[in-house]
Amino acid sequence: MPHDWDWSCLTGKVVLPSDLSYNIDRTNYNIRYTRSPAALVFCQNVEDVQNAVRCVSRQGIPFRVRSGRHSYEELSLMDDGLIIDISGLTTATIHPSTATARVGAGLTQQAMWNLLGATNEYAFPLGTMASVGIAGVLQGGGIGMLTRAFGLAIDQVSSVQMVTATGDVVEANATTNAELYWALRGGGGGNFGIVTAFTLQLVPVSQVVVYALSWRAEQFPSVMSYWQSWAPTLGDTNLTCQLTFSSDGSLHSEGVYLGTPDRLRELLQPWMARCPPVSPVRLEPMSWYMSTIYFNSFDNQCDHAFKTSGAFVYQPLPDHALASIQQAITSAPTGVSCDIWMQSFGGAMAEVSPAATAFHYRKAQFILEFGGSWQDRSNTAAGQSAAQWTRNLRTALLEYTNGTYVNFVDLDLGSRSTGNFDYLNMYYGDNVARLRAVKSEWDPANVFQFEQSIPPQEDPPSRRTGG
Ligand SMILES: Cc1cc2nc3c(=O)[nH]c(=O)nc-3n(C[C@H](O)[C@H](O)[C@H](O)COP(=O)(O)OP(=O)(O)OC[C@H]3O[C@@H](n4cnc5c(N)ncnc54)[C@H](O)[C@@H]3O)c2cc1C
Repeated sequence: MPHDWDWSCLTGKVVLPSDLSYNIDRTNYNIRYTRSPAALVFCQNVEDVQNAVRCVSRQGIPFRVRSGRHSYEELSLMDDGLIIDISGLTTATIHPSTATARVGAGLTQQAMWNLLGATNEYAFPLGTMASVGIAGVLQGGGIGMLTRAFGLAIDQVSSVQMVTATGDVVEANATTNAELYWALRGGGGGNFGIVTAFTLQLVPVSQVVVYALSWRAEQFPSVMSYWQSWAPTLGDTNLTCQLTFSSDGSLHSEGVYLGTPDRLRELLQPWMARCPPVSPVRLEPMSWYMSTIYFNSFDNQCDHAFKTSGAFVYQPLPDHALASIQQAITSAPTGVSCDIWMQSFGGAMAEVSPAATAFHYRKAQFILEFGGSWQDRSNTAAGQSAAQWTRNLRTALLEYTNGTYVNFVDLDLGSRSTGNFDYLNMYYGDNVARLRAVKSEWDPANVFQFEQSIPPQEDPPSRRTGG
């Protein structure tokens, strides 16, 4: 749709549809949809971000904020508006005296691993995929292979810099703008302003032990049954592990242990005795940096379309729920690869109160993520089948699960445009009211709104009005 928007108020690199790089620049990790923004601005510094916010506010231009491009539902893209891309904010300084780092919000997880790996002294409990942006991860929670040992990534965020709806720069931490600091740790990306930098408390890890186990697909019920009661409740919180079951028949578990290979073997022994793996466990001591490379290898493809959802689990799933999962995985639709992945919680993550940060689901035993991917984005039948498969499994597991992770966004849970605000409770549980109060304080005019944004208190969610 033609507009007479004036882009001269933008600074940084502006990309228009007529530019050579437009097609690459408008493409996110999930290639399911093609979005056609009116323009993109690649901010190089905080001032560019301030100028972008003032520019869109003055002209009433719809916009989205983007960093690492990994939103499952492409909430960082839109048609016919401006994309404010902050991936150029990549300055990073480590302060050894306080074991902290001040980092630009545009860093990817890979950039963080490189920065910390070079010290061979510090680590940070991020997720497991290289190109994911820390801006999205850190605003939603951040789960990964150090979660049981050190908690969520947000538990190590000590200060956040943000550009507000009026274009001002503020810092939020335990003593300054404390409610905003609370909300920015678990409230999800893009609700309150544009985050431009974080101060992170680093954790002292250089060496880890990684294990890998695999089983035959038929063993799923017994393997999962044991894992779900054992992995989240292990007294030794130095072990965090994941389990993946895929429609190609693979069933495998990997984990990171902060300790010795012998002790890890001892911890795994009862599980292996009950559920004999297809081959002996592989155990490998390595640097934390090398472990990030190892885990990244599981999902580093970026040439497919996908539909994914998730859920938190508080009690072990009953046998008939495990049977539903097995049935779903073994009857994946033609042309669609389906899988279910889970990661153990408990440990340091559960020691923090569900109200201490905006991440409510602290006491979950583990998290589920499931979905389908297909190679050819133009294959709409495969896309519909994958979406329906994901929906069906979510529905089948609904009575055994609680809410879902805001970083596993799923538009099936509602959206502003449909007037269904169920997503608020699903993502934030008991923290919804407090988040809406913070929204009212920092963005009363609802400048930062998108399909699943948090509405201010004055904009009550209602199916009738659509918010
Ligand atoms: C392959 C893959 C692997 C993943 N692995 C993990 C994992 O191991 N652990 C985990 O916790 N999560 C994981 N995730 C989920 C990930 O945390 C979310 O998708 C996250 O939102 C991605 O952030 P991004 O910056 O890359 O994405 P973007 O699409 O750029 O942004 C995501 C959301 O944050 C908003 N946003 C982005 N930057 C800013 C900013 N600077 N200020 C305000 N709002 C902003 C966007 O508007 C959007 O709503 C994974 C996702 C994928 C696709």
